[in-house]
Amino acid sequence: MNMQQLLFIVLAGSAGYLAFKGYKRIYQNILLGKSAPLSGRASDRWSNVLLVAFGQKKMFKNWIPAIFHLFIYVAFLFTQIELFEIMIDGVFGVHRFFAPILGGLYTFIISCIEVLSFLALIATVVFLYRRNLLKVPRLVKSELNGWPKLDANLILIGELLLVSGIFTMNGADSVLQMRDSIHYPSTGNLAISSWLGPFLFGSLDTVLLQMVERAGWWLHLMVVLGFIVYLPYSKHLHIFLAFPNVYISNLNSRGKMQNMPEIMNEVKSMLGMEATTNSEAYSEIPDFGAKDVFDLSWQNIMNAYTCTECGRCTAVCPANITGKKLSPRKIMMDIRDRTEEVGRNMASGDMKYAKNKENSVPVTLDAQNYDDGKSLFDYISREEIHACTSCNACVEVCPVLINPLEPILNLRRYEILSESAGPHEWVQLFNAMENGGCVWQIPAEREAWRHELT
Ligand code: SF4
Ligand code: SF4
Repeated sequence: MNMQQLLFIVLAGSAGYLAFKGYKRIYQNILLGKSAPLSGRASDRWSNVLLVAFGQKKMFKNWIPAIFHLFIYVAFLFTQIELFEIMIDGVFGVHRFFAPILGGLYTFIISCIEVLSFLALIATVVFLYRRNLLKVPRLVKSELNGWPKLDANLILIGELLLVSGIFTMNGADSVLQMRDSIHYPSTGNLAISSWLGPFLFGSLDTVLLQMVERAGWWLHLMVVLGFIVYLPYSKHLHIFLAFPNVYISNLNSRGKMQNMPEIMNEVKSMLGMEATTNSEAYSEIPDFGAKDVFDLSWQNIMNAYTCTECGRCTAVCPANITGKKLSPRKIMMDIRDRTEEVGRNMASGDMKYAKNKENSVPVTLDAQNYDDGKSLFDYISREEIHACTSCNACVEVCPVLINPLEPILNLRRYEILSESAGPHEWVQLFNAMENGGCVWQIPAEREAWRHELT
């Protein structure tokens, strides 16, 4: 085994280990949410995956960014083939393992990757321009200040480095093949490198050229390994999570709100109707809605980790458009940030986060025994959740079928039903509904009006 092989195995192994830890953390954090079964037919879910996740159906409501996004997306999918070869070459110390085996097919595949990489390069430059110079409104909102903006730029810069690595590697390789260097099997005429290589590197001597080819190979590899380790900390995790997230998305029609059986049964019994399910007899008043991530469903948390921070939801949100504080994108980012905080604290095992710290018996930190004195309301203000009109525009527009409305409704339910708090006008309305069955507190007149019609 030569030095290069050893270095490759150490680096790839370390990246694999770090990535495993990162993805395991995400998995455990998603499970902090409540269990909730998936309803609906699996065939409908798979059709969503094909149309929305693979087919990018929702993206094509706006053609120009959709086309550029498609370039990067398809290039990403195709470069996995080349990555597979790099892994084999790295482990076994060979060069272009598939070239002699596949012959002309190899030339075709690598040429496709080169064309897609070139298109992805153009798209990346356009996205950097849009985000940093053109300042598209949805990409410069205050919730993107700091890390989210840096995160978005870092991945675009990484993309530029990745494509540079591909063309450096293939370009230098093409020139080396022309010089009949040993260890460089023929790849045929590649679509871009066969002319770009001689143009850029044709004047270099062979030893220097070999070093350039290796530099390109390592640059490509290091960026890929860096991506794999970095993704669990980035909004770009959506490149993996978009597929399962679309699969688990709610199949109900957009306007249908999740029922609360306990409340429904209570209302039915007040109206003298038969309850549909047996509601438990509570010794104390239970908490309704959501106060923290443990009260959300695991789907809500997965939604938060899948959010691409594209801001399409915020751009169509009537509350945001009319200057209110609410941004559905920020709601999803806040849920992710709070989940990360809880996950980190739990992983620390520090008993200061235990609900029963004074208990002499050692306790484990889990959803039942966790209390850091904070909640989702430390991230999401009351003003934000009150501004939501429940219009579902954010749900409709999301390219990866995220539902920002569901956690907003659950936070409101907690505030209204568990805290008996909320905006003054709402409390008046709910009291009127509860006491008089009418929002205007004029039940008798309302009844009379109804009878006039019949
Ligand atoms: S449902 Fe609420 S958050 Fe979503 S777009 Fe409508 S007002 Fe905005
Ligand atoms: S919730 Fe959907 S639309 Fe909104 S920012 Fe996230 S990915 Fe984009």
